[in-house]
Amino acid sequence: MQSGKIGVTTENIFPIIKKFLYSDHEIFLRELVSNAVDATQKMKTLNSIGEHQGELGDLTVRVILDKKKKTLTISDAGIGMTAEEVDKYINQIAFSSAEEFLGKYKDKANAIIGHFGLGFYSSFMVSEKVEIITRSYKEGAPAVQWSCDGSPEYQLDEVTKEKRGTDIVLHIDKESEEFLEEHRINELLTKYCKFLPVEIAFGKETEWKDGKEVETGKDRIINETKPAWVKKPNDLKDEDYKSFYKNLYPLVFDDPLFWIHLNVDHPFRLTGILYFPKIKNNLEIQRNKIQLYSNQVFVTDSVEGIVPEFLTLLHGVIDSPDIPLNVSRSYLQSDSNVKKISGHITKKVADRLLEIFNKSREEFEKKWDDLKIFIQYGMLTDEKFYERAQKFCLVKNTEGKYFTLDEYQELIKENQTDKNKKKVVIYTNDEKAQYSYITEAKAKAYDVLVMDGQLDAHFINHLEQKLDSVSFVRVDAEVVDKLIEKDDVLVCSLPAEEQDELNPVFQSHLPSGKVNFHVSFEDLSETSSPMIITQNEFMRRMKDMSAISGGSASFYGDLPDSFTLVVNTKHPLINRIIEDKNQQLNDSLSQLRAEIASKETEKGSLEKLREGKKEEEIDQAEKDKMEEVNQAIEALKNKKADELKAFAKEHDLSKQLIDLALLANNMLEGEDLNRFVKRSLDLIK
Ligand code: ADP
Repeated sequence: MQSGKIGVTTENIFPIIKKFLYSDHEIFLRELVSNAVDATQKMKTLNSIGEHQGELGDLTVRVILDKKKKTLTISDAGIGMTAEEVDKYINQIAFSSAEEFLGKYKDKANAIIGHFGLGFYSSFMVSEKVEIITRSYKEGAPAVQWSCDGSPEYQLDEVTKEKRGTDIVLHIDKESEEFLEEHRINELLTKYCKFLPVEIAFGKETEWKDGKEVETGKDRIINETKPAWVKKPNDLKDEDYKSFYKNLYPLVFDDPLFWIHLNVDHPFRLTGILYFPKIKNNLEIQRNKIQLYSNQVFVTDSVEGIVPEFLTLLHGVIDSPDIPLNVSRSYLQSDSNVKKISGHITKKVADRLLEIFNKSREEFEKKWDDLKIFIQYGMLTDEKFYERAQKFCLVKNTEGKYFTLDEYQELIKENQTDKNKKKVVIYTNDEKAQYSYITEAKAKAYDVLVMDGQLDAHFINHLEQKLDSVSFVRVDAEVVDKLIEKDDVLVCSLPAEEQDELNPVFQSHLPSGKVNFHVSFEDLSETSSPMIITQNEFMRRMKDMSAISGGSASFYGDLPDSFTLVVNTKHPLINRIIEDKNQQLNDSLSQLRAEIASKETEKGSLEKLREGKKEEEIDQAEKDKMEEVNQAIEALKNKKADELKAFAKEHDLSKQLIDLALLANNMLEGEDLNRFVKRSLDLIK
């Protein structure tokens, strides 16, 4: 029997470890099972190179729970350890490396909580005592039992052990009794050990007998030793990829859209399968993540920094023994190997998408609507991916036809180039709501793109920056004749004075408060609508963007929505309003017009007198006179506006037309909508 002090200087460092690792106690099982798997694989290797002769026997790793004794045992038939090896690996190396680790990170407790393995040592996070009973494969080496209760004192005794290999016996402590629950151990094994390369047994298979579930004598194997990603792509069928996907995410019902099998040897080793999922809602995006493995041991499902950000939306598995696992995230992100991995994955994903696009455009188009979000996200956030994705990034028009960016520019070049030589892409973000605008645009032989995705607003801005001869305009940003600015300027035939008089009539009917309306007059065709509401592209986009980025206190976000009410001066109904107005207000309007005109003349001559004079040379009487005239004009104008408003109030037709325009834009609601319905009924009667 040997007893001694393990190579630790700190009196008792276990409590510190417990505290440090508080949030991650459960990793002890991962560490112990992967040690067992390592020892088993070493055994296989020794056997295959002839260092060990004879039968290997049953190599299953067993996890055994004994609730009565309050122990959890991890048992393997691996290479085992001799007494010297226990001394070296456990007493000296394992403990001293743990101590060194603690020394290094003592001040950064938070930074290290998370992903690092303390290996065998982590068993003390959940145990009051740990025993190792081990027999080396080496012939003649006696079996030994090492035990330690968490103080630096340990004991090492010779014992008898029939079979080669190692049993690690954890005497679970009071605070950790959750690890004596079968379901908890099951959960941990499923999380960390599901794809380990050696069979892991926990409990027995059950079967139904006489209406009861009973245990059979057969071990229940909890893992799949050869998961799809370690196999060769050539050996896998579509079905295999799909069923592996189901295995990874049992709660997802849709098949993935595509997958990419990664297999890299140089300059780093990396295998894995990435799936493009069919995304139904944002919740799923958050729940199902890419899983990171190291030699088939689950490490984490937060892969930020290892996988390019836009690909964190993908599903699947990445396995690389070269990713340093036992370090903090910030270290990971600065690690050059990790950076290379990220770049490599981006390239692979782009290559694969291009391949599918080239090989079967039809299939690619069918899946585009689901793929779009990934590809746009990638193009927005990753310059290199943008370059590559240009070849296969698609846009869809209202007819459901798909085009690459180049094809689309070619399509609209002829008919949709403006006076500044820019190709104007007309788009809708809501085909139903903007139906009438789309119809008008199509009547002019314009093409309209559907840009109704979550990222489209950003994507449009991005494309405008990238493709310098292209600009985007939403189909309702202007009346159709002005969507694409041509050389011929549109002039309105309605005299300015008439426009001025109609303005208050319409303004008085328009909603106010959260929205701003500007009234403008255009000679549109007789068959166009009498009134159309448009929304300026620039302002709308600024507002949209600030809504997406969630800046509540942003400048644009706080401005009211502003719209233009375009009045079609060629429409017979508008002419009727003009006639009604002139008829009803004939006398008073002509009088007011005359009075204003005479005051304007007076003002004109006063201004003439002032010409060439400096401010101090004008005498007070003159100034007073000017002031008086200005006030008189103002008062007359107000009076005129009041009369026009009074006219408007009683004029159902103008109100009705505005309500129709609002209704066409989904802007009529509540009491206003109710009144509109009532008025319409009255008009039909
Ligand atoms: P690591 O596994 O990172 O080397 P550990 O603290 O987990 O660190 O283990 C220290 C060493 O103890 C291992 O490298 C291995 O040599 C030995 N060891 C641990 N568990 C076993 C086991 N089940 N069978 C054989 N050797 C083991």
